[in-house]
Parts: sequence; structure tokens; C-alpha cells
Amino acid sequence: MPALSTSRDLRRANRSAVLRELLFGGQTSRLALAEATGLSNATVSAVVGDLIDEGLVREAGAEESSGGRPRTLVGVAADRALAVGVDLGERGLRVESFDLAWQKRSATFVEVPPGSLEPADLVGHVARAVDAVVADAGVAGATLLGVGVSVPGVVERTDRAEVHAPGLGWDGLPVGELLAPVMPGAVIVDNGAKAMGQAELWFGAARGASDAVVALLGIGVGAAIVTGGRLYRGSRSSAGEWGHTPIVVDGNLCRCGSRGCLEAYVGESAILRRWDAAGAAPARDGATDTERIEALFALAASDPAADAVAEAFARHLGAGLATLVNLFNPDRIVLAGSVGLRLTPDLLARVRSAAERYALRQPFESVQIVQGRLGEDAVALGAATLVVDALLASGFTLGPDGERIAIAAGAAR
Ligand SMILES: [Zn+2]
Repeated sequence: MPALSTSRDLRRANRSAVLRELLFGGQTSRLALAEATGLSNATVSAVVGDLIDEGLVREAGAEESSGGRPRTLVGVAADRALAVGVDLGERGLRVESFDLAWQKRSATFVEVPPGSLEPADLVGHVARAVDAVVADAGVAGATLLGVGVSVPGVVERTDRAEVHAPGLGWDGLPVGELLAPVMPGAVIVDNGAKAMGQAELWFGAARGASDAVVALLGIGVGAAIVTGGRLYRGSRSSAGEWGHTPIVVDGNLCRCGSRGCLEAYVGESAILRRWDAAGAAPARDGATDTERIEALFALAASDPAADAVAEAFARHLGAGLATLVNLFNPDRIVLAGSVGLRLTPDLLARVRSAAERYALRQPFESVQIVQGRLGEDAVALGAATLVVDALLASGFTLGPDGERIAIAAGAAR
């Protein structure tokens, strides 16, 4: 932890610690807050008093305590503020709004593959979708904390937020700089796997983990590496590009331009290419790639051709997971994304045993390989958590600093 140089820094840190507990732990007493944060009762009371004055926290009834008088509970004022998450994926934009109790208040999906759009048109789509979910959230008078945007690529964490996404043809597109002028409130851009990893870390299958990896398996393949309870980013924020780990020397061509990458064996199109070559069963009319993969996985129990495709997938994924186990020694690996969430229990068992075959024995013994708990919405939720995470780092002030704006009464429908 960095040295806290001034009393202002200390106040900010205390405030963040108390709010963090309230935002993720729900209603609790001042005494329990003091125990959870390690702060004194007097400090907690002062911080909670400030938060109540600002309308961020409310008293919420009382709980019985053994022996003494009932303790007053406090909790966040759920409808005081809103965070918006934008999942800018390869199929389109999923935009969702969340209140301070992390209840989804509104959502929309716009089918526009970003790679097919001029940047200016993309910006227009994002701005309209954000306006729509804010208007639909039903929280007139609340404060819009900001908009988190997740993208399928490497994001340089500067003000310009340059995105490198070969799948979309973006090589340094300054998404942050393009969106900031048209967005209400602060804009934070990050990689989709990291956004989803943060959601699983805060609310899902990686909750409370100190050393974990959340693997996003979908059209693209990536990972969020959690170390010491925080996301690991590396020197230029590209850490976790696990899908581009070479697993076959001079193997299949990958979208990144290299050959033999993990993504070229376990990404959605790689699975379907193998399935088509194996004489795929005819797909239901209008079935999406994800639905076809779900059907393939289900068929593996009874159809030898589907079984062979599933087995090849499990072995390649197992090799990729062994790399994560050997490099990071996590105690938990969470498999999520459109493919990860559709593994059948049998296929998950096969993936685990393939990983065991390829990993070092000692680190493998202590790792649990589980599926994500939050569903595919986790990316938009994770994008919204980026905003709250950034605010917590700065003490979570809602002052009139021009960055956070009140949602107009007229916005409520
Ligand atoms: Zn690659």
C-alpha cells in the first residue's frame, strides 16, 4: 500500500474502505464496518455521517444484537447514483445501467458489428444507446457516475484510450477520445476480458479470490489475471492476451496474424470450422454460432463425430489452462464467455483432466477450475464496475466537478 502523505489522502482512503464494504457487502452495522475495515469506531461513525449527509448512504432499520441494544444498520442509497456499462462486442453493443445496489435498471442491445462501422457512426450508436438506458433507468435526480466501455482488444490506458483490436480492424483507434465529448460523465475504456474478470471477482465465481484467472472463451479468447485481489495489467495494459499464446508451432492462422495461437483452436470459429470439417449435423435454421456450439457440445454424448470435435477442443483448452496454472499458480480458474458458459458437466470434466495432464502437478493440485456465475451479461456489468472502481480509488466524491452529472427529471419515463 502506498504511503498516505496527507490527511486528505487518509480521509479519502477511509471513505473508500467504508464505501467498498457497503457497496459489496450490503447492509451492515457501524460496528461490523469497523471490524471489516480495521478502522476505529469513531472514524467509521464520522465517515458514515458524511456519506449520510451526501445521500449516498441511508440508515436501514436495526438488527438484534446479543445482549446489548439493537444496532442500527446502514446501507447504500441504491437509487442515488447510476453507472452504465457498454459491452462493445463483436456482434454489437450491449448497454446496461446499474444502481448502487448493483441492480440492473435498464438494458438495450444494438446489433451493429463494430468492425463494419466508421468510427463516427459507432460513436453515434454508443451515445444513443447510453442515453436510452439512462432515460429508462427510472432514477430521476440520481447522479450518473460515468460510463464504462469494454472492447475486444488491447486498451492503452491513456486519456485517448487507444484500442488495438485486430478482429475489428482497429490499430490504435482512440475510443476514449472519440467517446468522451458525446458521453454524459466520465468514460473509462478497458478490455472485455478484464471487465468481465472484474465482475466475476466482485460478484461471481472469483469473489474473494486473491490469485485467480478469469478466462473469457468466446469469439475471442482472453483472460483477466487477478493477483493479490487486483487485476494485473502489465506495462502497457495488454497482460492477459492468453488467446494469442502459441500452442502449436506454425499451426492454424490466427486473426492476430500469427500462427498456432490458442484462439485459433478454441475460439468459436475454430470450433465450428473443425465441426464443419467433421461433417457437422445440419444446424437449425437461423441458429447463431453460439447456439451451434451449444448443440455440438450436447451432441458429444451420443455422436462420435461431435465427440471427437469436443475432445479436440478439450485437449487444446487444457493445454492453454496448463500454461495459466504453471505461469500464475492461481487457486481458481473461472471459465466464462459464450463458449465457457456452455460447457456441459462432462466436457468440463474433460477440460479439467486435459489441464491436469499438461500442467505441473504441484500447482495443479491447488487449483479449482469452475464456470462463471454471472452469465454473458458479466461484460456489461464489469464495464460498469470500472467506473465505480475508478471512483473508489479517488474517494468517491459526487461533487459538482463537471465529470459526474445529475440525471434530469425529464429523463425518467
Ligand atoms: Zn493470435
